[in-house]
Amino acid sequence: KHKYFVASRINLIQRSKIRELFERASKMENVISLGIGEPDFDTPQNIKEAAKRALDEGWTHYTPNAGIPELREAVSEYYKNHYNLEIPPERVIITAGAYEATYLAFETLLESGDEVIIPDPAFVCYVEDAKIAEAKPVRLPLKEENGFQPDPDELLELITKRTRMIVVNYPNNPTGATLDEEVAKAIADIAQDYNIYILSDEPYEHFLYDGAKHIPMLKYAPDNTVLANSFSKTFAMTGWRLGFTVAPEEIIKDMIKLHAYIIGNVASFVQVAGIAALREEASWKAVEEMRREYAERRKLVLEYLREMPYIKPFEPKGAFYIFANIKDTGMKSEEFAEWLLEKARVVVIPGTAFGPNGEGYIRISYATKKEQLVEAMERMKKALEEL
Ligand code: PLP
Repeated sequence: KHKYFVASRINLIQRSKIRELFERASKMENVISLGIGEPDFDTPQNIKEAAKRALDEGWTHYTPNAGIPELREAVSEYYKNHYNLEIPPERVIITAGAYEATYLAFETLLESGDEVIIPDPAFVCYVEDAKIAEAKPVRLPLKEENGFQPDPDELLELITKRTRMIVVNYPNNPTGATLDEEVAKAIADIAQDYNIYILSDEPYEHFLYDGAKHIPMLKYAPDNTVLANSFSKTFAMTGWRLGFTVAPEEIIKDMIKLHAYIIGNVASFVQVAGIAALREEASWKAVEEMRREYAERRKLVLEYLREMPYIKPFEPKGAFYIFANIKDTGMKSEEFAEWLLEKARVVVIPGTAFGPNGEGYIRISYATKKEQLVEAMERMKKALEEL
């Protein structure tokens, strides 16, 4: 049999454990998934209309590599209006979601053997991005008692001559944690003192609860921050593949070289719809409606979890996830997720999918209709009471 050659760095990339669990679950009947990290809402109507109009108006051609100028301007206005930050359009590239933005940051900024500090737990793509860039991921364990935020002293201890970048992601996937202003400032100071980039992945910035505020890293470290952001979660547009990166202009020039050849650009009519998403009041009204619905679901799930034996949820202030401690069940995270799937037909994600320090936790997503959530919580409660 012919053996095909595949580059060793590609062989290093791990298949997401999340997908593996989904595949198992998809072969079973009557399963409720609390595993999905994607809004269950439809894209707001005004954005869909803008895309349809754009097609009829002839937006069917190549766009400039950095993105349609008007969309880059709309991103710039957005930072002015929402955070009073001056981000000139020259510092923006339109990307295929936050995924491309993070990929560009790793590939453009890291040399083979450079170290990148990645929190543990963290969203799954950063470690794999590091491997593709042949950089060394150095994990920074986050503690629940610190609200799953980096301890600045522990961060300092990990810094070596090879440290080039630290990844920050708030509101956080998988913990739902938000970033305190003083921690943001401390990270910014460290990055500036040691000349380190901050890759700040902020796609959940609009899903905040109990009065929590979002701190964009661009506010405190404008010259060190490379931002990854996305329309995916904010406007329920995961399938549109629309996001952007903000970085210092010189870095942007180098990122564009890579972006132009590897990805090609985001579809022109999708970019036009992105302008409507950012500028039209109707889309922001829809975002607030989604946020309110998430807020209700969060309350509901937290109340259920607090009544269940053995489960201790971390109270999240952002995103649409709950990270819950399951150590009292005596099971490991993966064992628990498999047990719950068999016993209750409910999918949750083992904390270890996000790094070894996620052991003892599970991630529950509440981006699921309320009736489904109630049914899943009832099943989970019953299973745990019988344990
Ligand atoms: N970053 C985080 C923290 C995410 O949770 C996700 C998606 O789940 C992404 C990036 C990728 O999102 P996008 O659809 O914008 O590529």
